[in-house]
Amino acid sequence: MFETLRKQMVEKQIRARGLTAPQLLAAFESVPRHCFVPDEDRSAAYGDNPMPIGFGQTISQPYVVALMTDLLQLRGDEIVLEVGTGSGYQAAILSRLAKEVHTIEFIPQLAERARKLLQDYPNVFCHVGDGSLGWPDAAPYDGIIVTAAAPKAPQTLLDQLKDGGRLVIPVGMTQFQFLEVWTRREAEFEYERNVNVAFVPLRGQGGWN
Ligand code: SAM
Repeated sequence: MFETLRKQMVEKQIRARGLTAPQLLAAFESVPRHCFVPDEDRSAAYGDNPMPIGFGQTISQPYVVALMTDLLQLRGDEIVLEVGTGSGYQAAILSRLAKEVHTIEFIPQLAERARKLLQDYPNVFCHVGDGSLGWPDAAPYDGIIVTAAAPKAPQTLLDQLKDGGRLVIPVGMTQFQFLEVWTRREAEFEYERNVNVAFVPLRGQGGWN
């Protein structure tokens, strides 16, 4: 049943909306999203919406996970940082598309739950702390993805990008943001604005504190 629901999710929510890269679609077909939501909500895991995961946090809508992943333009040999592990689902998707994934979560209980689920993904490394400061130990990164809304793109994260590296981050108010894509060009940073989104707030020093 879950496999059928997953295939439908990929076709109707992701491919039909214009995200067609074969590796991206294969990643979404292979990761069991229902394992990353609370047990009692498994049957709703493939819906076209975000879902609560406890502690006031959410697992993002599948299409938004796909769009943000697509914006990183991964080829398979990258080191990537995710800020906001949450359920661990986005990190599992990234693990299929990059060489090494570091993911950091502010809420220790969520980090611990995700760490257990991500044991099956050996190229994912889980950390606990304020990810608005990045994770300097594994920097510089080819890609950084922030899955919580920031008032602006934190300079600390931009500084942890490699030359040519990309930061994908929702920026704006606490209720409503635009996805921004920043690209490092040596000491300079270019950015473009993508669609509007609604993420939970980024906490910590580079967030809403
Ligand atoms: N990527 C997640 C997934 O696949 O389930 C969804 C993340 S949820 C929308 C946002 C997460 O960011 C929450 O778990 C929240 O606790 C976390 N967060 C907020 N501020 C943070 C910070 N400064 N450092 C690390 N994580 C943070």
